[in-house]
Amino acid sequence: ITAVELIQETFDRINETESAIDSFITLNEEKALAMAKAIDEKGITEENILAGIPIGIKDNIVTKDLLTTAASKMLYNFEPIYDATVMEKVYQSDMIAVGKLNMDEFAMGGSTENSYFKETKNAWDQTKVPGGSSGGSAAAVASGQIPLSLGSDTGGSIRQPAAFNGIVGMKPTYGRVSRFGLIAFGSSLDQIGPLTRSVKDNALALNAISGFDPKDSTSSGSSVPDFTANLGDDIKGMKIALPKEYLDKGVNAEVKDAVLKAADTFRSLGATVEEVSLPHSKHGVAVYYIIASSEASSNLQRFDGIRYGYRSENAATLEDVYVNTRSEGFGDEVKRRIMLGTFSLSAGYFDAYFKKAAQVRTLIREDFKKVFADYDLIIGPTTPTVAYGIGEKIDDPVTMYTSDILTIPVNLAGLPGMSIPCGFSNDLPVGLQLIGNHFAEDTMYKAAYSFE
Ligand code: GLN
Repeated sequence: ITAVELIQETFDRINETESAIDSFITLNEEKALAMAKAIDEKGITEENILAGIPIGIKDNIVTKDLLTTAASKMLYNFEPIYDATVMEKVYQSDMIAVGKLNMDEFAMGGSTENSYFKETKNAWDQTKVPGGSSGGSAAAVASGQIPLSLGSDTGGSIRQPAAFNGIVGMKPTYGRVSRFGLIAFGSSLDQIGPLTRSVKDNALALNAISGFDPKDSTSSGSSVPDFTANLGDDIKGMKIALPKEYLDKGVNAEVKDAVLKAADTFRSLGATVEEVSLPHSKHGVAVYYIIASSEASSNLQRFDGIRYGYRSENAATLEDVYVNTRSEGFGDEVKRRIMLGTFSLSAGYFDAYFKKAAQVRTLIREDFKKVFADYDLIIGPTTPTVAYGIGEKIDDPVTMYTSDILTIPVNLAGLPGMSIPCGFSNDLPVGLQLIGNHFAEDTMYKAAYSFE
């Protein structure tokens, strides 16, 4: 098959399924076909094994001359003049960006219902949410529209939609993948990562997008191994920890059963699985919503109606431009986060909220550090429940927030976290979360591959 044929088939498949799934905000058909033609002329070699592979991009990753909205009215017309570093890497690998994927506005949410543009549907049941915020990235891969996508994860936004759609999603170690050109939400938490149907595809994609970037001051210089190198190696003697807090009463019984079965599978493959404790993880949600919202309130100051994106038409003064642009351009959830963050950072409340949250964050980090002194890997559920109905939780932000309880601690600690499918509940996929030590994605891939 030529790259042109593959890309044509990809768009045929997208056109057939898009009315049911609604995963794309923008399609890039013309440029994608031109790129495919160029790749066919150049030829595909062993070294360039991802050449011609279609990839979908979450719409908060900036793409030169291609609409990038972050699913917000605020950026409804924004065509960036540069590419994110991950896009440069995608193009260096000769992958073909077929379009931009739907998400919660500015990545704030867990169901993709906060998008200004459309509601993406779960690939398994179109009455259910696809998860979020990378809901488009997950549903597009799970429904067979594309084999691979990029998402971003600040508190679970790659892992949770991967779990809800029964696919593989990796949030790499903080600093592993450049954030340059990722529209910032919580800068100390955000990471870009791949969503795929298989573990090997995921490892190949992470190979392509990882590495030090001088344009991201938090990017790590740590060397990038070939993440496919130990796929297929046995996991005999691997020490796996199962935190008891991850099987607490909030976790659905069938989800718990699926995870306990997964633990047995790892045992049968020669690993040991033992119960441990992460005592501070229960504070993760509270800490996260202060830190992430504080960082968001600062990062989102740039959307003022002056430099790019939406500008209110009904503004007589400069102050009106700011106030009306932001009132009209941001959705409710984004406004809620900006208010929460501005409050937590304000002079009178800083010590009680932001500073306290930062201190508890350190305790959460130390919990993990203690476990990783004795274990190679942590496992648990990715989410307390499987995908729920569209509209079911949208009016209840606190319930929505608490459903991130199992993914958030990983971002607070800067660790890599991944979700792989491990069974079904109510005919909907259950995700198994694997958490590794800093920069130990290779161990996670090895374990995930042996499980698959
Ligand atoms: N659901 C979480 C939130 O709303 C996580 C979002 C994310 O990881 N981008 O903040």
